[in-house]
Amino acid sequence: MRTKYPVIVVGAGFAGVETATRLSRRGVRVLLIDRNSYHQFQPLLYQVATAQLGVSDVARPLRSITRKRRWVTVLHADVTAIDAKARTVTTADGDTFTARVLVVASGAEPNFFNTPGAEENAYPLYSVKDAINFGARMVELLEDAHREPQSGDLHAVIVGGGPTGVETAGALAETFKYVVPEYFSPDLAARCHVHLVDMVPNLLSAFAEPNQKYAEKRLREVDVDLRLGVGVTEVSPVGVTLADETTIPSGLVVWAGGLKAGPIIQASGLPQGRGGRVDVGMDLSVPGFPGVYVLGDSANMIDAHGTALPQLGSVAKQSGIWAAQNIVADLKGQPRQPFRYLDKGFMAMVGRGAAVAELGRRRFRMQGFPAFIAWLAVHVALLSGWWQKVRAILTWVQDYLSNERSQVFIGTDRR
Ligand SMILES: Cc1cc2nc3c(=O)[nH]c(=O)nc-3n(C[C@H](O)[C@H](O)[C@H](O)COP(=O)(O)OP(=O)(O)OC[C@H]3O[C@@H](n4cnc5c(N)ncnc54)[C@H](O)[C@@H]3O)c2cc1C
Repeated sequence: MRTKYPVIVVGAGFAGVETATRLSRRGVRVLLIDRNSYHQFQPLLYQVATAQLGVSDVARPLRSITRKRRWVTVLHADVTAIDAKARTVTTADGDTFTARVLVVASGAEPNFFNTPGAEENAYPLYSVKDAINFGARMVELLEDAHREPQSGDLHAVIVGGGPTGVETAGALAETFKYVVPEYFSPDLAARCHVHLVDMVPNLLSAFAEPNQKYAEKRLREVDVDLRLGVGVTEVSPVGVTLADETTIPSGLVVWAGGLKAGPIIQASGLPQGRGGRVDVGMDLSVPGFPGVYVLGDSANMIDAHGTALPQLGSVAKQSGIWAAQNIVADLKGQPRQPFRYLDKGFMAMVGRGAAVAELGRRRFRMQGFPAFIAWLAVHVALLSGWWQKVRAILTWVQDYLSNERSQVFIGTDRR
């Protein structure tokens, strides 16, 4: 089957959803394709992994998002190939779709940097399924360790000291320190340990030094063992080997060590640059490929000052809005505008009541409780859907005031 659409958007993440819904508002027909029937909010996956939030707090059905956008057609399908010259998209079902304008917003995937055993034995936190799998494994290991007090200690290892690694380490350490004593026993809590490993000598490289130091101090306060300045050479089912030849016994390893473009980009013929991402022009289209835009985590974008833009939700979202404007201009035969990114800065949660933030282009620095409140406000604003926002706020209040976790993990059956 071959069907033609004015615009096809591949990927319904921050960038793809913005492009599709904005175009629909302007009366442009769009086919929005994603391998998931839902839009997922990656920045909060670590909270799903540690049972702080539930799946429906961070994932929203695409048909709910687009139900009032009559020009958007949602297709739940895995895209297996893109022909950027012909602007065609082929799905795993064998269907082919052709577009006048093709928008590739398929995000990225974990980069294991060819580390032996990492892909097989570590958990990435890049999708809702990853978060559920990790949480189920954690509960399984806690139950085993509780049932068999002589079985030794439980070690969790986080690989990567960027925002994802720091947020996950903080959340996991607080789960072990505050929730495990109440749900299991103080003895088991004393046998649970979190290690964070990074080959660079400091956490949160993109942040200013005072914020790096704050994050370090805060993680040490909740007993996270920081192994900085040493790389991981192997991940096995029973542990992690480091470049200094030490090993950490662990069956619970999180890989937060970096991202690369997904396979459909690699095989698309589009020009790939840093991280395998597509180098796009200032207007977000791909030079030499008329009618093709690449957005969000799939693209290497530069701002008006020539600075490379980071892989962030706000960059992806704004690129989606901007691309929609340029596509409307294309269809009307008007000139496109170069992407102007409104830099809102970045932030990371370190634990309950503790975060670091560097806001705006001038990087106004915050840490501790004020940064924690700023983090909550920004993430509520970014969440898709009013019910998601209300539920997340209520859950965060409960989490802040108590050691209760209202979410459950469906793990392996024990019969
Ligand atoms: C754990 C984690 C924490 C993060 N924390 C923050 C944060 O605190 N703040 C922040 O600003 N940013 C954060 N980010 C980054 C932010 O989430 C990304 O920059 C953003 O999601 C990129 O949006 P996107 O639309 O480009 O891609 P994505 O959101 O990744 O969406 C890509 C979509 O494409 C679909 N897709 C991919 N391949 C195919 C295919 N072959 N066929 C069909 N569909 C496909 C996927 O299912 C997905 O829905 C975090 C990222 C991660 C992983």
